[in-house]
Amino acid sequence: MKKETKIQILRKLIQLPTINNNETTVVDFIISLFKPYPTVQIKKIPYAPNRDNLVITIGHENTGPIIGLSGHMDVVAPGTLSNWTNDPFSATLTNGKLFGRGASDMKSGLAAEIIAMLEILESQPQLNGQIRLLATVGEETGEYGAAQLTELGYADHLTGIIIAEPTNNMTNLVYTSRGVIDYEVTSSGKNAHSAHPDLGVNAIRNLLNFYQLAQQRLEKLSDSDPVLGRMTHEITQITGGEQANMIPSSAQYSGNIRTIPNYPNQLIFNELNTLLTELNALPNYELTIHYSYPEAPIMGTPESELVQTALKTYRTVFNHDVILTGSSEASDGSEFIQAAGQPTIIICGPGSPTGHQVDEYVDIDTYLQSIMFYKQLALAYIK
Ligand SMILES: [Zn+2]
Repeated sequence: MKKETKIQILRKLIQLPTINNNETTVVDFIISLFKPYPTVQIKKIPYAPNRDNLVITIGHENTGPIIGLSGHMDVVAPGTLSNWTNDPFSATLTNGKLFGRGASDMKSGLAAEIIAMLEILESQPQLNGQIRLLATVGEETGEYGAAQLTELGYADHLTGIIIAEPTNNMTNLVYTSRGVIDYEVTSSGKNAHSAHPDLGVNAIRNLLNFYQLAQQRLEKLSDSDPVLGRMTHEITQITGGEQANMIPSSAQYSGNIRTIPNYPNQLIFNELNTLLTELNALPNYELTIHYSYPEAPIMGTPESELVQTALKTYRTVFNHDVILTGSSEASDGSEFIQAAGQPTIIICGPGSPTGHQVDEYVDIDTYLQSIMFYKQLALAYIK
């Protein structure tokens, strides 16, 4: 495929504003690119109106391994438009950089994976196994597209998945990631005049007590992962009370835990749920807990076949080594890892560290090289 066409495909993806919605516009565009190849298996999987996931598989069934190439189609909001040098959805090319919302996170990675597959189809090599594109909805707000594809079994027979999230212009290769648990605790009490606190139940006091005990118990889980470090627990939001001279009848806080593979998420749920049950057994406590979109940590190893094949491919395409590292951020990988075959997950993509910022961009040369990288890695892996 011509260089200009590769840039044009990426510009078109950025020009479709999929701000936490409307991923179907991207799905239909991708399908149109695969139209000339009748052997390709295309599946649109609806999540909600205008929000379809897309699975495209090429190669021969039952002959060899299946590798997944994955990217999310949603982007975050552009924020204040006047802060951008150019319209975030114009996909402006300046001095070898393509600017726009999603240029880095992660329409460049997604475009590169799609083009890698199209080039493989064009050159028609005899594939031993299969290459499957998993394009998802709603990664930025909870990885629910990836969760849905995993639940429906689309990742079950994959042995490896490459997620093209930005990794500092392809200079990093992520093979292990922290998990995330967001939770919210609500405490209910009883109003009273603050001159007579014994007539009320102080919801804030009970809430803070839960938080402090939770912190103590989680601190005891003190193992440190050699790459990711220790688990972290932060209180991130708090509300409660009615006015200064009133015993508060309700209070709430949100906590954010970044987990490590040593401590599976279930263990953390058990700790918090047990604490909640213990406190609720005491007089005057009425606490509830709610978890939203928890993500599992990804335990990886540099020795895995996918990481090793990726390292070899890096040396041929980029002429240098890559930094093997871990990530504190969650990705669709946290969902795919739960598929039946427990695929090896790696994250590497062409985007720059400007995701979620104004004037987000991707370097065009890195983008073009990443296409070659995904193509060679996919072919080498299924060989
Ligand atoms: Zn992303």
